[in-house]
Amino acid sequence: MYTAACPSCGAPVSFRSAASVMAVCEYCQSTLLRNADEIKDIGKMSSALEDYSRIQIGTSGQYQGQGFNVVGRIQLRYDAGFWNEWYLFFDDGSAAWLADASGQYMLTKSLGAAVDAPAFANIQPDMAYLYDKRSYAFSDVRTAQCVSGAGELPFTVGKGYVAKVVDARHAARFITLDYSQGAPELFVGEAVNLADLKCQLLRSDDQITESAGRLAGKNNVLDCPSCASPLKYIAGMAMQLVCPACHMEVDCAGDKAIAIGKARQLEAFHSTLQLGDTATIENKKWLLIGLMRCSEEGEVDGDWTEYLLYHASLGFMWLVESQQGWDQIEVLNQWPEMHNAAQAMLNGKKYRKLFDYNAHVTYAAGAFNWRVHVGDKTAFTDYDLNGVRLSKERSPSEVTWSRAKRISSELVGQWFAKPIASFASGDASPSSIKSLAIMFTALLMVINLPLLIFNGFGGIWLLFFALVLVWLPAR
Ligand SMILES: [Zn+2]
Ligand SMILES: [Zn+2]
Repeated sequence: MYTAACPSCGAPVSFRSAASVMAVCEYCQSTLLRNADEIKDIGKMSSALEDYSRIQIGTSGQYQGQGFNVVGRIQLRYDAGFWNEWYLFFDDGSAAWLADASGQYMLTKSLGAAVDAPAFANIQPDMAYLYDKRSYAFSDVRTAQCVSGAGELPFTVGKGYVAKVVDARHAARFITLDYSQGAPELFVGEAVNLADLKCQLLRSDDQITESAGRLAGKNNVLDCPSCASPLKYIAGMAMQLVCPACHMEVDCAGDKAIAIGKARQLEAFHSTLQLGDTATIENKKWLLIGLMRCSEEGEVDGDWTEYLLYHASLGFMWLVESQQGWDQIEVLNQWPEMHNAAQAMLNGKKYRKLFDYNAHVTYAAGAFNWRVHVGDKTAFTDYDLNGVRLSKERSPSEVTWSRAKRISSELVGQWFAKPIASFASGDASPSSIKSLAIMFTALLMVINLPLLIFNGFGGIWLLFFALVLVWLPAR
């Protein structure tokens, strides 16, 4: 470890890793470059935006039998969200990055130049990338601004540093190709969770909640810059607020609230659950912070509502309410090993492809951890295994996979301590009657066709009558 006095304020600044070329003074935020034993002050670094991250500089943990300490951090912001990259220094002197994005964690180590990487401009999400005999799928393509740095870092970042990165996944395996310095650098690792890393000195729920005050002087309520209605939010959590009154999109990821887009008249939408509702799920209190309505294109009753729930240390959770009932959604940090036009394999289990469809956002209100626009389009592909549904969602810059678990309206009612209209045990919805009718038609055909063929077509009226009976309830 190398320690020097900050040229600006005199406080001790340490470099634990020999690979670190830069450190940010903890006390005065001066950016200090290390060149041999010389320290140069190149100006102030903006301090980190307080967010919902559980990690902090000083957090320690274990990975593959080695202890590590979190020694540095950069925050990156792109047009639809932001994430943290934590710089880890291991006991054996090696280093790694722990990416922390909306509650998902990915640990990677640099393997140097990525020799066969495609050009950044040619990469699309969901494209295949062959690495180490495995087919990875690109999950996102991002051009991001570094908005702040802290602690010690292996390269010089500052205002205007632009990161150009793409990620690719195969099951739990995770790759980043970093084009920020020109020639792409390859980082290889995997999706991880904080419990497996045996992390110590994480921020507590209270610390996360208290560190609020991101918008200086504001106390978790600010007035809509467009219509002045009060907007409640959780500081440090939301990337964007959508005013429930005028639907102005308000950026609150920076140090002040900025109206973006335009206020719009949206048809009033009466959701079953409301912004600010709280749910108690397995003794944990969740807050409903955002809701959006999506509409399937070309489908009359293909609308659904997505509710975004937030818990200080557990992060985000989605509930979806549709014609078919309620689903609890888990965004997957471990992706399918493969997927094609017919099936997807996840953890060795085969999910059968159901359908492809497109949907767009028709209504949004509340707080979100990424930027939501009314009109945003997403392409979906659904797969099924015994009623468990896997969905791939693809936007122009990102792919995500999620798994939906059907839950009863009674359970949702218990969580939110209010009565939730039931979906009549799930069998009476028009679409399930329709699928029953299709099934019975097929059965009638299979049973009766041989009889018709062998006994002449005299019985065809009887079959016709049976079909009318089957299809009447579905009409
Ligand atoms: Zn200083
Ligand atoms: Zn407003």
